[in-house]
Amino acid sequence: MQSSPDGLFLPVARPTLGPEEEQAVAEVLASGWVGTGPKVAEFEGMLQQCTGASAVVAVNSCTSALHLALLAAGAGPGTEVITTPWTWVATSHAIEYTGAQPVYVDVNDDFNMNVDLVEDAITDATRVILPVHMAGRPVDLGALHRIARAYALTVVEDAAHALGATYKGHAIGGTDSRFTCLSFQANKNITTGDGGAVCLSEPGDADYVRNLAQCGNTTDAWKRLTAHSLEPPLCVRAGFKSTMTDIAAALGVAQLPKLQRFLARRRELASLYRSHLSTVAEVILPSEALAGADVQHMFIVRLDPRRSIDRDDLRARLHARHIGTGVHYRPLHFQPYYREKYHLRPDDLPTASALADQVLTLPLYPSMTDEQVARVCDALKATLREFAI
Ligand SMILES: *Cc1c(COP(=O)(O)O)cnc(C)c1O
Repeated sequence: MQSSPDGLFLPVARPTLGPEEEQAVAEVLASGWVGTGPKVAEFEGMLQQCTGASAVVAVNSCTSALHLALLAAGAGPGTEVITTPWTWVATSHAIEYTGAQPVYVDVNDDFNMNVDLVEDAITDATRVILPVHMAGRPVDLGALHRIARAYALTVVEDAAHALGATYKGHAIGGTDSRFTCLSFQANKNITTGDGGAVCLSEPGDADYVRNLAQCGNTTDAWKRLTAHSLEPPLCVRAGFKSTMTDIAAALGVAQLPKLQRFLARRRELASLYRSHLSTVAEVILPSEALAGADVQHMFIVRLDPRRSIDRDDLRARLHARHIGTGVHYRPLHFQPYYREKYHLRPDDLPTASALADQVLTLPLYPSMTDEQVARVCDALKATLREFAI
């Protein structure tokens, strides 16, 4: 179901795009250069400024960013990557692409990796720790960096939700992690339609990641054109086609200056949800945002398991009331591919297993109105009353 012009159906997420984005894309179309070129370089420079990263390589998705970062971190056949089951499938897919094996540690009830369990998961084959900042809440990076230093491992952050968040005063993307991966997919904090980036703490990694992203070629077409070089590209490895287009980058250049305003509105809407839902006994609210550090990328409530409300039934009834909701996420050990390949059982990851049927994501996006939050909460309360009968 689409969100209709009268706003009857309320989607769970929606991009916030305006005339600036339309004009930015129109300019690229008129320029005659739509591939990887000056707009990508401009967007990379802006991301570097915004995160404090030593270098940034823009790519076509966060899935690609994770894939290339893991390769650069030494993940491959015979190695293991310690990661979280509570994420979008791409986090583990990127590990699979390299030939490495994902090793899952359980989460806390804020859906972030339980860092106390990481050390026990380390083996001789471990190369990388890959956490996710769920819904924009930074994981305990200090603990992960200490473990990584002690065991000579590399930290690759999946920061798909966390552009704009900070950890101990450092912007995500500018922390001590060697690689931080961002997403600009349609529902993320800013969007380029699809897109991603690898933020690097060691500038020496930039050439390798860029080379992997442009099919293993040492230069790209724009650089050859502007250098008036007639040399055909030199290919040094079988890389991947992961580059960002100037069309996408133009959207990013128009979106990034709006990030703080978007995040402020997300925070306002989240506190509105809290005040509407604080007295609803069936609903467990997410723990309060850590002052300034968190980004409210999603608003995920839990259904109190003692009330035995069927989450999927609840979602269907909300849908009938024209309210979109989401499930973030079905944990990966409950996804057939990972469950079967690695013989994972619910008991292996007890907290994630217990949370799996409880989570419900409510609509949250910067252009949402206060009235729409009230509409969602009224519909949720009315639906919960139906369950009580
Ligand atoms: C969206 C998302 C990704 C994948 O991002 P794409 O840009 O769509 O490839 C990876 N991890 C998490 C946690 C995500 O939410």
